[in-house]
Amino acid sequence: MFENLKAQPADKILALMQAFKDDPRETKIDLGVGVYKDATGLTPVMRAIKAAEHQLWEEQDTKVYTGLTGDPAFARAMVDLVLDDAVPHDTIAAAATPGGTGAVRQAFELIRMARPDARVFVSDPTWPNHLTILKYLGIEMVPYRYFDDETRGVDFDGMIADLKTAHQGDVVLLHGCCHNPTGANLNATQWDEVIKVLQDTGATPMIDIAYQGFGDGLQEDAAATRKVAASVPECLIAASCSKNFGIYRERTGLLMAIAADAGAHKLNQDTLAFLNRQNFSFPPDHGARLVTMILGNDALRSDWMAELEDVRTSMLGLRKQLAGELQRLSGSDRFGFLAQHRGMFSRLGTTPDKVEALREEHGIYMVGDSRMNIAGLNTQTVPILAKAIIDVGV
Ligand code: PMP
Repeated sequence: MFENLKAQPADKILALMQAFKDDPRETKIDLGVGVYKDATGLTPVMRAIKAAEHQLWEEQDTKVYTGLTGDPAFARAMVDLVLDDAVPHDTIAAAATPGGTGAVRQAFELIRMARPDARVFVSDPTWPNHLTILKYLGIEMVPYRYFDDETRGVDFDGMIADLKTAHQGDVVLLHGCCHNPTGANLNATQWDEVIKVLQDTGATPMIDIAYQGFGDGLQEDAAATRKVAASVPECLIAASCSKNFGIYRERTGLLMAIAADAGAHKLNQDTLAFLNRQNFSFPPDHGARLVTMILGNDALRSDWMAELEDVRTSMLGLRKQLAGELQRLSGSDRFGFLAQHRGMFSRLGTTPDKVEALREEHGIYMVGDSRMNIAGLNTQTVPILAKAIIDVGV
């Protein structure tokens, strides 16, 4: 039977990682894969995670199954973190999932079950997994304009015009903050306009929030998600703990389905449990438990927040340094967008041959669409990157 399998397209980012590994140049810089790295190039275990793991090791006396949608305490902690009290909690069904990807997958499955003919509107560009999972599930997708190649900001007029073509029964997928792969985000006024379009069209928003705390701060990064959720009858939210808790491999995420009223809550909760059961049964617990412990303990929580704030401000510092360096070298403000973007990524907005020239001539590795992982830089490598960007003629 296996002879019937067809080769799947290679993952471009993983191929890039391998090419980086094989490059013998000592001066090479990896701006490819999307993990946070500190100034020494490491992705450390956060202090609060270590402390919670230690405590868990001492106290945990069973590893028996949790519930099909995970420990309700994890859902409560994450609902508080992401939504605070933006919507009544008795309208929120929630299920722990293997990472944010698991939450995205389960959300798409829920959409397909509820509305087999639903179309999902996706930003152009978006995180490639959104597209491949939608395609795999056979869900129709409609790209909406998002990135302005000239300004490297959001093509807001294009976005609004495209979203206006959605109608009730469609889903609009939005990045809650720190857009991946562009780094370009909506401001508060623009979010209000998007909300108005959602209300006018009756389309259902689905928010993917994978970088809360990486942009403008924990509360600030959740503001748009909260406002959208509070302004429409129904909403889906896929949250990831991979980045902001640094627990990538623990596979920790939560899918929230917000119903129009508390009456619909049970059906949603039972459906999420059913979907978990079909796909993987009980979700992973270790990362979820650590997150629950941290969020529920004042000392652990403040230490986690302090470390997350250091991560955020270090990336912001690198952004400002890079924009400043490029302004000095180019004598223009055309790279100012790098300081405006938020999160781990920025799309440089250049051609594949310039991306290749950066790799070939300077040992600088970024994804082919010119997405750079800002956390792959440090204060010493920023001037090297800036010089290379000018050198290849971006
Ligand atoms: N959504 C977006 C937009 C992402 O960038 C990521 C991480 N690359 C995720 C979801 C989910 O990540 P994970 O499954 O590792 O939690």
